[in-house]
Amino acid sequence: MDDFGLFRQALGLEEPWEVVEVKFDAARRRLDLRIDFRKGARFACPECGAAGCKVHDTETHTWRHLNFFQHEAYLTARVPRVICAEHGTLQVKVPWARERSDFTLLFEALVMALVKEMPVKAIGGLVGEHDTKIWRIVHHYVDRAVEAQDLSGLERAGIDETSSRRGQDYVSVFADLDERRAVYVTEGRDQRTVQEFSCFLETHGGEVARVGEVCQDMSEAYLAGTLKHLPRAEITFDRYHVRQHLSKAIDEIRREEAKQHKQLLKNTRYLWLKRPRNLTARQQDLLDELLQQPLQTVCAYELSLRFDDFYELDDPDAAEEYLRRWIAEVHTSGLQPMIKFTRMLEDHWLGVMRWHHSRVSNGLLEGLNSLIQAAKRRARGYRTNRNYIAVIYLVAGKLQAGPQIA
Ligand SMILES: [Zn+2]
Repeated sequence: MDDFGLFRQALGLEEPWEVVEVKFDAARRRLDLRIDFRKGARFACPECGAAGCKVHDTETHTWRHLNFFQHEAYLTARVPRVICAEHGTLQVKVPWARERSDFTLLFEALVMALVKEMPVKAIGGLVGEHDTKIWRIVHHYVDRAVEAQDLSGLERAGIDETSSRRGQDYVSVFADLDERRAVYVTEGRDQRTVQEFSCFLETHGGEVARVGEVCQDMSEAYLAGTLKHLPRAEITFDRYHVRQHLSKAIDEIRREEAKQHKQLLKNTRYLWLKRPRNLTARQQDLLDELLQQPLQTVCAYELSLRFDDFYELDDPDAAEEYLRRWIAEVHTSGLQPMIKFTRMLEDHWLGVMRWHHSRVSNGLLEGLNSLIQAAKRRARGYRTNRNYIAVIYLVAGKLQAGPQIA
């Protein structure tokens, strides 16, 4: 083994590449490795793989590598251009980096491992690179992994929206309900997003005609999009989203009533909206006390608990009858926000009932959503929707995004 053999091994370099110079700069905390190819070496054509092409000229390039203890490490090499009889003069691919990157594959692999766990900005600080450079790496590998997806097995899809960092614009997330992962994420929450998804599906091994089930919220936009672009699908309105509308109705009643009963209802919002089993003992006591009061909010709350039972019934016909009776009861109560909610149910009847056939777990979209919310908190300072979308793919897409290290 020559003097630099250890470095050559650490870098995984093979013939004809070798380490020819190692320079430590203690003051700048920098390690420079110069790599070169053996004199007279010949390379394969990067286009056709024809072996033994002669080197025409070279271009020197430097790549950032993994830190060597506290030293920032860089590789510098002359990258040859070879002459292929068929393809002319072409630059060869070096084994330690991809084309047009300023980082080695190992450095990029480190970034891709970190990005699942920490904000890009923090990674930038950790490795001493501006975060725009880190984002460039992330986008390269995420884009590639998204494109490489095989959606031939996709038969049940979920659609959900999530607000982007400013809370004004939205992205739509399309999930494979059986693989329990996000497969397509795009800007907006209109009908066009469903069209885009159906195109993406068709160009990634899937078939629109095979999608037999779609789970979504009750928005007109998704509904119109699904009817038009996923025409074979039966639509289920997601239990979680349906319940959100009911929670909104309760809260509207509480806020109105709080104007007269300030002392009683102040700061009680979460008591009414959380499931009883998720309350702390103290909250439970407080709620029990409130339930003794002759309040409209109490009436709405009790109706809402009975609405939840609709989902617990096993027999679809019994469930349908149950819901009709529940709606009649709501009308008797005279609570306008609740009545408005029942109209929404009636307008979306088939999709609400469909839940009892498709049994799409409400936890799925909810689960993806909480992953996404966590990602959003972690990745403050996204700056662009493109960055936000990349992080959603990383946390909710189960993608193998990163370089293939041999
Ligand atoms: Zn060639």
